Amino acid sequence: MLDIKQSALLKTSSYINGNWHPSNTTFDVSNPAIDEVIAQVCDASVEQAILAVRSAKKAFKAWSTMPANERATLLRNWFNLMMEHQDDLARILTLEQGKPLAEAKGEIAYGASFIEWFAEEGKRVYGDTIPSLSAKQKIVVIKQAVGVVAAITPWNFPNAMIARKAAAALAAGCTFVVRPATQTPLSALAMAELAEQAGIPAGVFNVVVGQDAKGIGEVFTTHTDVAKFTFTGSTAVGKSLIKQCASGVKKVSMELGGNAPFIVFNDADIEEAVKGAINSKYRNAGQTCVCTNRIFVQKDVLASFTEKFTDAVNHLHVGNGIDDNIQIGPMISSEAVENVTKLVNDSIKQGAVLNTGGKPHKAGSHFFQPTILTQVTQDMPVARNEIFGPVSPIISFDTESDAIAMANDTEYGLAAYFYARDIGRVWRVAEALDFGMVGINEGLISNAAAPFGGVKQSGSGREGSKYGLDDYLEIKYLCMGGISD
Ligand code: ADP
Repeated sequence: MLDIKQSALLKTSSYINGNWHPSNTTFDVSNPAIDEVIAQVCDASVEQAILAVRSAKKAFKAWSTMPANERATLLRNWFNLMMEHQDDLARILTLEQGKPLAEAKGEIAYGASFIEWFAEEGKRVYGDTIPSLSAKQKIVVIKQAVGVVAAITPWNFPNAMIARKAAAALAAGCTFVVRPATQTPLSALAMAELAEQAGIPAGVFNVVVGQDAKGIGEVFTTHTDVAKFTFTGSTAVGKSLIKQCASGVKKVSMELGGNAPFIVFNDADIEEAVKGAINSKYRNAGQTCVCTNRIFVQKDVLASFTEKFTDAVNHLHVGNGIDDNIQIGPMISSEAVENVTKLVNDSIKQGAVLNTGGKPHKAGSHFFQPTILTQVTQDMPVARNEIFGPVSPIISFDTESDAIAMANDTEYGLAAYFYARDIGRVWRVAEALDFGMVGINEGLISNAAAPFGGVKQSGSGREGSKYGLDDYLEIKYLCMGGISD
C-alpha cells in the first residue's frame, strides 16, 4: 500500500527486547494529505512499556561495557542502512507525516547524520586526572553511561527526533526506550527494523507504540529502572513530565516550544533575508519548534522586505507532499488547521492586516494557505503563541535595542535569527539575544556537529555536537589513596 521497495520496513507493532509485540487492539495511522488510513498499528499497553524498560535494563550491562569502538561499528551499520533505505524511509515519513518528499529525504539524512556523528564521538569519551592536594592521593575522573534512557518524541520529525536522542544515548553506552507520537509510529518502527539488521543487540533500542500517552509517560518518568528521561514536545506537557521525574530525581533533558524571532536590520542583504525567512518559516509547513514565529523588520527596509517576501511566499507550491515540486504539505490534523485559523482571525480582529493567504487551502481539509500578516504587534495572539503553521507575522521596529527587547520578550528561548552586515551590530545582537541558538545571516542552522537546545522555557540539555554526549554520561570521581609510602 505504501509502495516501498523493502516491505520489511513496514512494521506495525512495538519492538521490545528484539521482538515485535502484537496486541489485542490496534489504532489507525492516516496520511494527513488525503485523510486516509495507511496502516493499523498494534496499541501497546502500559505493561508492554514496563517490559521495554526492564529489557533495556537487562541489556544495559553488556552494552555499556562493550568497547566503544565495537558500539561504534554497530551504530555505523545502522547509519549505513538508513542511508541505503533513504528513499523508502522518506516515503513512509511523507505518507504518515505529510512533509514534501524532498524534505523527508533531508530528514532521513539529517537523522542518520547524528548516528554517524555519535558513532565517532562515542570513541572519545575521555576522563581526566586532576593534580591532587595531597601526596598520598590521586584524583581521577571517569565518565560512565547513565543507564536506561526513556524518551517521548513528537510527530513533526518522526525520524530525526528519535535519531538525535538514540544516537547519543547508545554511543554513550546507554540503552533506550522510545514512545513515538502515535500519528507517526511507522518511521520509528522502520528505524527499529534497521537497528536489528545493523546488529544492535536485543533490548538496546526499544520502540513502544501506544495510545495511552499518560500511562506510558508515567512508566517512563517514574520507573526505578529508568535513569534518564528525555522529551521533545510542547512546553506544557514537558513541564508536567519534569514534575513526574522529580519524584525519582531522574536526569532530565527537554527540548520544548519556541517563539523564534527573525530580525531584518536596515544593513541586511534583503534578498538573502527573504530566502532565510522562507527556509526558517515554511519548512514542514511551519511545524517545527525552531520555525520563525515573529519577523521584525527595521522601518526603513520594511516596504522592500515585505514586497519581496510576499512575492516569494506567493510562489510556494502547496499540495500532497508525495507529488513533485511541492514545498508546503498538509498540517498534521484538522485541529491544527483550526488552531492556526483562530490565531490569524483573532490577530486580524486586534488590528493585524492580511497581506496574503489567511485561510484553509483548497488542497484538502488539512491544508492552510501560506500567510503573511503585517502591522502585527507583540501583544497579538499570533506573536505571543507558537504558531506551528505557515503564517508569518511582520512587526516593524525603529532601533536595534527595540528589536532586541521585543525579540527577548517571550518565555521561550530556543532559536533566533537575524540578518545584518555591520560586524559590531552582529556581535552586539548575537550576544544580547536570550536564545540557545542564533542564526546570523542564516535560516537553517541544525546539524549533527552543532549543539541544539534552548534556554528559558524552551528546555534544557543539548542534542548533537561534542556536548551532546554529556546528557547521557555521569561523571565519577575516583579518589585513590595510599600512594606515598
Ligand atoms: P505536539 O503538539 O508536538 O503533539 P505534545 O507535547 O502534545 O506536542 O506531544 C509531544 C509528545 O508527547 C507526543 O508523542 C504526545 O503523544 C506525548 N504526550 C502528550 N501528552 C503526554 C502526557 N501527558 N504524558 C506523556 N506523553 C504525552
